[in-house]
Amino acid sequence: MKRKIATAGVIGSGIMGGGIAALLASTGIKTLLLDIVPSDLPDDKKSDAQARNRIVKAGLDAVLNAKPALLMQKKDAARIQIGNLTDDFNLLAECDWIVEVVVENLAVKQDLLKRIETIRRPGTVVSTNTSGIPLKNMSSELSDDFRRHFLGTHFFNPVRYMKLLEIIPGENTLPEIVAFMAEFGEKRLGKGIVWAKDTPNFVGNRIGVQGIVRAMQLMEEAGLTIPEVDTLFGPALGRPKTALFKTGDLVGLDTLVHVANNTFELIPDDDCRDTFKVPDFVHTMVKKQLLGKKTQAGFYKKDLTPEWKVIRKVIDPQTLEYNEFEWPTFPCLEAARKAKTLPDKIKSVVYADDKGGRYVWKVLSENLIYAANRVTEIADTIVEIDNAMKWGFNFEMGPFETWDAIGVEKSVAKMEVDGLVVPEPVKKMLADGHDTFYKGENGQIYYFDFVAATYQPVMVSAAAISLKSLKSSGNVVKSCPSASLVDLGDDVFCVEFHTKMNAINGEIIDFMASGIDYIEQNGIGLVIGNQAGGMPGAFSAGGDLNFMGEMAKAGKWKEMDAFLKKAQDGLQYARYAPFPVIAAPFGLTLGGGCEVCLGAADKLIAHAELYMGLVEIGVGLLPAGGGCLNLWKKMTENIPAPAKITDYAPFFLPTFMNIALAKVSTSAADARANGFLGPKDRIIFNRDYLIGEAKKEVIKMANDGYTPPVQKPVRVLGSAAQGMVNAELHNMKSAGFVSNHDALLAKRIAFVISGGDVRTNAKINESVILKLEREAFIDFWKEEKTVARVEHMLKTGKPLRN
Ligand code: NAD
Repeated sequence: MKRKIATAGVIGSGIMGGGIAALLASTGIKTLLLDIVPSDLPDDKKSDAQARNRIVKAGLDAVLNAKPALLMQKKDAARIQIGNLTDDFNLLAECDWIVEVVVENLAVKQDLLKRIETIRRPGTVVSTNTSGIPLKNMSSELSDDFRRHFLGTHFFNPVRYMKLLEIIPGENTLPEIVAFMAEFGEKRLGKGIVWAKDTPNFVGNRIGVQGIVRAMQLMEEAGLTIPEVDTLFGPALGRPKTALFKTGDLVGLDTLVHVANNTFELIPDDDCRDTFKVPDFVHTMVKKQLLGKKTQAGFYKKDLTPEWKVIRKVIDPQTLEYNEFEWPTFPCLEAARKAKTLPDKIKSVVYADDKGGRYVWKVLSENLIYAANRVTEIADTIVEIDNAMKWGFNFEMGPFETWDAIGVEKSVAKMEVDGLVVPEPVKKMLADGHDTFYKGENGQIYYFDFVAATYQPVMVSAAAISLKSLKSSGNVVKSCPSASLVDLGDDVFCVEFHTKMNAINGEIIDFMASGIDYIEQNGIGLVIGNQAGGMPGAFSAGGDLNFMGEMAKAGKWKEMDAFLKKAQDGLQYARYAPFPVIAAPFGLTLGGGCEVCLGAADKLIAHAELYMGLVEIGVGLLPAGGGCLNLWKKMTENIPAPAKITDYAPFFLPTFMNIALAKVSTSAADARANGFLGPKDRIIFNRDYLIGEAKKEVIKMANDGYTPPVQKPVRVLGSAAQGMVNAELHNMKSAGFVSNHDALLAKRIAFVISGGDVRTNAKINESVILKLEREAFIDFWKEEKTVARVEHMLKTGKPLRN
């Protein structure tokens, strides 16, 4: 029988248990969430079912109220059934997978696993989410069948958003169970799998916490302050803005100290054991409940001035008092700011001879050596360590990629000058004439294997296509500064945008048209997609506002109309091309990016984390790249013929509201609920699979005998819809919900979507709505308040309400 996971039991409804239950429910898995019966129930409540479920109910409520949201849609919570570990324990027998996520306490976990043994069906997978307790200590007294199906599944917080899932086989886990859970985690849950060994705190936390604690230890010696350390260890090194101390506040100082102490206890033979000793001031902070975000005060806290202005303060490690601060800078950071690429930025910092650079070098060089010395102990390869740091700590580069970026030979020489002991496999690599940990050849990435002392291919899932690898192996058919046409093989081609935030500009529009002509001669279909990094990443954050602004300033209205027409025609050209076009959106898919998806594609293969919307009204504009037309078409395309006009009316308001309120989906499931995705569009949980799945879809559609859509007149609601919106807007304006400018824009948007001055139920040509879009767009630019909104957005990145 084929193994599958349709039902899961999650034991423990705290931070991690709640997060895991939410993710499972969001992927369609029926989830049983259990927690303990409160120990403080008064006698008259001892048999009250609600009171007995108080803890798990609080856990579920925390999931429902979490910000950022843990569920992809609130209604997914219906798949979570709650219960308690006394009355409902037997229900676990029905689950295909049981994951324990209770307090980090060996005795509690051992007892729980023994109880699971009594009810578990033979063959059911059981896993632990422990962050540090060795699996062997937990499972030693369990049956053989249990141990063969027992493993570690270590998720990171917040579970929905952190890509890392460490899979830890126990001593007796069957290889097929480990492989099954890894595939399930990758495909169904969309996680990045790191193969870890059963060693203290596994991979990510072992390397990550060493780096954090050592930085804390060396801070005092280097005479640096907390904000100075955080500025140094942020984006200049390809790390998140939260750097070290702000990350500590987010994770919780108690958790951080717990992981560090636990590692220290469990690694008596580690030559760097002392680098896990948390400085005294941090221990004192934990005692004083200065735990970070959860207690509203940690290394940083927000305070109010007597004038009620919010100010940020930072703790002084000497006095434990909070003081105001300014973000500092260093010459090395100024140099990094000027560098173009991440490797150059990192080099500008680590080799700088200022106070900041010297400190970063010391912390980083020790961490690189520590990571290299852990290979084979905590994981078999450098790839696992790099992936763990990228997916669990949001680093842009893992330790070995960073080491390549700063030059292995140069850095090793400097380490030796400093008296550091360089790991033997690294020395051997250099001695054998290899000067990088990674290299690319013919589209394949290789890593240096410490055991074999040779390069081995980096294994990626067969479903994942890497545009970077394809591009490095000569598969670029043509390119311009803003976009490339990449040959995906099997006669399928991908148009990849690569502007800043993948913003759409004139060059991209021209390029798409020439790409379509090329595919018409040479291919069977087109994928529009890219693999921009970062979380959540940007398929495309919209149109190029600066470019439009320049045209508006110069009053070049004719040119603006021509530009818009070219963009609209370009998308229509793709839409009616004689081959399938698939767009693969993920992350930010806003404005023009959303219009590309709605306008050009037959079908969308979307990542589950999709923040999609037509947000132009935020800058006083409306979608004029076919967004109004195509959202209306998408909303109404599934109304079966012969439809009555009353069948269309309920779709008008949602279309209008999406645009007039600049609604942005909070997930792909939410985008489907809002109408941005239709019933035939697919949602994929693993972002690495998007291009591969889109390619498969192109091939399937081509093999099925693709016929392009026929352009038909569009049915519109005309004056009836405008009347409906105008009445509503009048009320909203009187109640102060919308400004005069919002009302003016919204009224015109309703006019455009409903087809302009036409009778209700008219059937009009698509080009009529497209023209209305362009006219409104240009008229909006002539409004002072729109210009103010655009300028504010360009200056601050935030919308202006005026
Ligand atoms: P938490 O304190 O938020 O939740 C723990 C849950 O265990 C609570 O719901 C509690 O009611 C329950 N519990 C307490 N005593 C129990 C008992 N005797 N029997 C059964 N359940 C009991 O903790 P968490 O952060 O969700 O951590 C849970 C597990 O996940 C731990 O093993 C932890 O090490 C691990 N983990 C935590 C993180 C993190 O960032 N918080 C990350 C990865 C792994």
